[in-house]
Amino acid sequence: MSEVKDKKLVNCDASKCTGCRICEYACSMKKEKTYNPTKSRIRVVRLNPFVNLAVSCRLCEDAPCVVTCPRDALKQNEETGVIKVDEEKCNGCGWCIEACDYGALELHPETKQVFVCDLCDGEPECVKWCPEGALEFTSKDDVSEKTRITAIKKLFQNALKT
Ligand code: SF4
Ligand code: SF4
Repeated sequence: MSEVKDKKLVNCDASKCTGCRICEYACSMKKEKTYNPTKSRIRVVRLNPFVNLAVSCRLCEDAPCVVTCPRDALKQNEETGVIKVDEEKCNGCGWCIEACDYGALELHPETKQVFVCDLCDGEPECVKWCPEGALEFTSKDDVSEKTRITAIKKLFQNALKT
């Protein structure tokens, strides 16, 4: 089984994301053959009037969505961390949606079952289409490292201002 830190996910750099939502359209076209953001596995969130962030599954360890499902309809791939939905079991109760802190699961507008990013078998379509290069398919470890460096830079900048 691969380590959690080695698992790869789609990560968004909020400093580059313009909120254009091309990633949502690219995803829905790839997965559902339609340009419809309500059927996208990645979601663009406006954090404030100037900052946007595209969010998809974070491949949580001991995934709360899996643990919460009362019908055992969700399984996490041990190697990739990807969540798989068993359509025979999911009845769309939405408990997993409540359990996910990232809003990564959605209820499909037609099937009324949940759906979630599957990383396009290792070649995420959203990453290919982002015109700003804001999306990266990278390891969780790399994301933590970059977050740490950004936090340190901010501390330095704040210290220089005082
Ligand atoms: S395509 Fe890129 S810039 Fe546009 S919303 Fe998605 S992540 Fe942001
Ligand atoms: S769907 Fe949400 S809770 Fe489940 S693994 Fe992904 S981010 Fe974590």
